[in-house]
Amino acid sequence: MDIGGYYEVKEALNQRVLKPLRTTLEGDDRYERFGIQPSRGIMFYGPPGTGKTMFARALAGELGIPFVELSPGDVTSRWVNASTEQIQVLFQEAQVLGPCVIFIDEAEHLFGARTLGDGTIHAEDRKVTSEFLVQLTKENREAIVVSATNRPADIDSAILRPGRLSAHFEVGLPDEEARHAILNVHLAAVPSELSGEDLTELASHTAGLTGAELKDIVEDARRKAAERDAECVEREDFPPNEELEELSDMRNHDIEE
Ligand code: ATP
Repeated sequence: MDIGGYYEVKEALNQRVLKPLRTTLEGDDRYERFGIQPSRGIMFYGPPGTGKTMFARALAGELGIPFVELSPGDVTSRWVNASTEQIQVLFQEAQVLGPCVIFIDEAEHLFGARTLGDGTIHAEDRKVTSEFLVQLTKENREAIVVSATNRPADIDSAILRPGRLSAHFEVGLPDEEARHAILNVHLAAVPSELSGEDLTELASHTAGLTGAELKDIVEDARRKAAERDAECVEREDFPPNEELEELSDMRNHDIEE
């Protein structure tokens, strides 16, 4: 899986999480000897479609360990009324797998701090969060818990403290360099005649768009090239600059709101 751009996030993830974890999983105790406990609790936060799930999958891929996803469907049907037993079972099942990534998308549903009128936290939320805290702080936990949210402010802060989901990475909107790289990723597997300059132009007219939206734009262009029965995807298969800018303005307007 190729993640375009986001060099700082990749570097921070590598230094803080991937390297220490990989080294330790390989049986090398050099981090532990220096009192560094590899991080087994991670939170990615940022707008929808910016690649948080990709980062979580890439982490499991890089470590060569299973990826267990709690999809939004699970979150709504199974987890909104999650009982403490269900959470225990999840971690028991994961422990049998050995090292694995448990990915919790839309974490605000599970770790939401819905407050009551008097400002105290809803009893059910408190129960679910408490059970997670118990599981997260178990000494021999093998699972690496990776979560993602678009609404970090809604997460119960207890879950984000040291020793819990304590490694936080912001995955924001892609900057121009990242947009260029993302367009490239989604063109890489098909014949393309776009020059570096074309990509720079596309990237400069798509400020505010997410990786998911850029991927959609490239897919539309690929579809157009197929419809033309063309040899290659060309600049003309992409919308003109004015159209891209309209899209970009709409998104930037959303952000201002
Ligand atoms: P949500 O918050 O809605 O779950 P997300 O932040 O987890 O979204 P992803 O599901 O990882 O976003 O991204 C959606 C799709 O957008 C990816 O499958 C990928 O095709 C594309 N995409 C997003 N960011 C990038 C990127 N940096 N490089 C390449 N593709 C990307």
